[in-house]
Amino acid sequence: MDRVREPRPELGDISPYDAKDVRAEVNLSANENPHNLPGELLEKLADRVRFDVPFNRYPDPMATRLRGLIAEANGLDAGNVLVGNGGDEIILDVILAWGGPGRKLVDLPPTFSMYGIDAWMTGTRVVDVPRTPEFEVDGPALMRAVAEQDPDIIVISNPNNPTGTMTPETLLIDLLEATDALVLVDEAYFEFSRQTMRPHMSRHPNLAILRTFSKAFSLAGLRAGYLLADASVVRELTKVRQPYSVNRFTQVAAELTFRDRVVFEAGVREAMRNRDRLVHGLSQMAEVAVFPSEANYILFRVDQAAAVWRDLLHDHSILVRDFSRTPGLEDCLRVTVGSEEEIDRFLKAMDEIIARKHASAHFGINATANRHLERNGE
Ligand code: PMP
Repeated sequence: MDRVREPRPELGDISPYDAKDVRAEVNLSANENPHNLPGELLEKLADRVRFDVPFNRYPDPMATRLRGLIAEANGLDAGNVLVGNGGDEIILDVILAWGGPGRKLVDLPPTFSMYGIDAWMTGTRVVDVPRTPEFEVDGPALMRAVAEQDPDIIVISNPNNPTGTMTPETLLIDLLEATDALVLVDEAYFEFSRQTMRPHMSRHPNLAILRTFSKAFSLAGLRAGYLLADASVVRELTKVRQPYSVNRFTQVAAELTFRDRVVFEAGVREAMRNRDRLVHGLSQMAEVAVFPSEANYILFRVDQAAAVWRDLLHDHSILVRDFSRTPGLEDCLRVTVGSEEEIDRFLKAMDEIIARKHASAHFGINATANRHLERNGE
């Protein structure tokens, strides 16, 4: 054959993830830790790899050692923990198991786009309950949707990516009591917010909590995340997951990192300090509106955001995340809390861009409307 037949027609509505491959000296676009693993952890990892990791053998499918460590730290049994190839894999597993044709997922946009994408891929119907203009969950609308639509999954990013907003614990408890749907509370940024629904697990078997090694623990490049949930939920997820998705190297690195997690505390405190500096710096700028955040990123609104994004990249080699085409986030950009140096460079660049904007007429570029779904895994 000199051709290949077309794939599923729905793929026409999807843009491939990160096809642009944008390079920048300062990457503040993916909410990563600005620092690599500390030197002593890299040494320990190198030793383990040299003497103790048979790469010729398949990995332990359930990452038993890592699973045990996570369970112990959270006062749970190993059966309450599922480890995945990043939180992204676990989100897909949850939707594969609880979603599917004829089933419904409640999404709370604007939020992390993978929930909607995975729902789409699995033929799960999405019931959107938009957040308020302050990006808070609209409690009455959510409760109405639960009563009227009887969803199978409700996903809440807490803090919410990309807005940084927390949902009140009382609302989450009301929700857990009002439905037997699986309520996935995505705590990917838990180490920064320091707030968790973990204490409510024993009373609510429909509560599942997602965490990741990609943010506070500097392991975005190795892909590890975990779920805390009722053992019956974990058992169902093991039916749909890829058996060897978490490779040996990642399991060892995540074990060492988790054992030594206290060393990341300084980085979290540094991020909190830098977040304050970032918020302070941005709020000095007349044309910028900053939204409060409980995570390691800040969402802000600025006139002609798409042009500001482009100037940050082209003139200053700084990459932030452009949300200006996302409904509800018009003129919004998200900046990760980087190192002190990176934040200084970003704030200086913003000052220059805004000053130039006043002085020049080149600033007339509008974001082109784009209704395509954009994959946004980070
Ligand atoms: N949930 C949220 C809210 C996120 O922002 C991210 C990544 N940015 C993830 C889950 C997945 O993270 P990872 O796959 O790297 O663990």
